[in-house]
Amino acid sequence: MDPLIIPASEGRAVKVSDGASLRIITPKGAQAADFFAYNAEVISEWLSPMHTWVLNRSIKPREGHELISRFRRPMLTFEKDGASGVHDMMLAACDQFRYEQYGHQGPHPSCSENLQTAMRREGYEIDVVPQPINFFTNTFIDADANLTSPPNPVPPGAYVELRAHMDLICVISSCPFDLAIPDWQINSESGVSELIVELIQ
Ligand SMILES: [Zn+2]
Repeated sequence: MDPLIIPASEGRAVKVSDGASLRIITPKGAQAADFFAYNAEVISEWLSPMHTWVLNRSIKPREGHELISRFRRPMLTFEKDGASGVHDMMLAACDQFRYEQYGHQGPHPSCSENLQTAMRREGYEIDVVPQPINFFTNTFIDADANLTSPPNPVPPGAYVELRAHMDLICVISSCPFDLAIPDWQINSESGVSELIVELIQ
């Protein structure tokens, strides 16, 4: 497969066969990539960060971790982390209402809509937006459990590699978050940017 370019603020689905690997790259750096994965045969089975926390005893995805479904079956291995651990599994996918809560007027692109559109292109209507893994997303939880998103330090060209353990439909969204909110930067100060996805056998 030629590298797939996911334009800034958009999402795409990618089919990944059992045993194949997927590389997600932020060419300009500091661009959050919301990642969802479904069992390609039974899409009611999806990747679940909350179940994955318990398996790995960690609320951050780390190189070598197994990433499991809500039925606790292995879906992917996080094989290579080329982003120095700057990832998140806490933040729900952004949606229209989150932007409205922050005071945005009118429609705003979102990872939730990107997921729904990408899955419709594959022929599926999605009722539930699963919790994503947010690669290249800088969240910090302090000793009192306060949650912030400090400036995003992920450099240009940073990447992650994931190996599939079943046939998957994966969806990657270039998070459109672009509001100026204190302690909540999410993406680069210079704006939302594209992602690149490569399949490697
Ligand atoms: Zn988003």
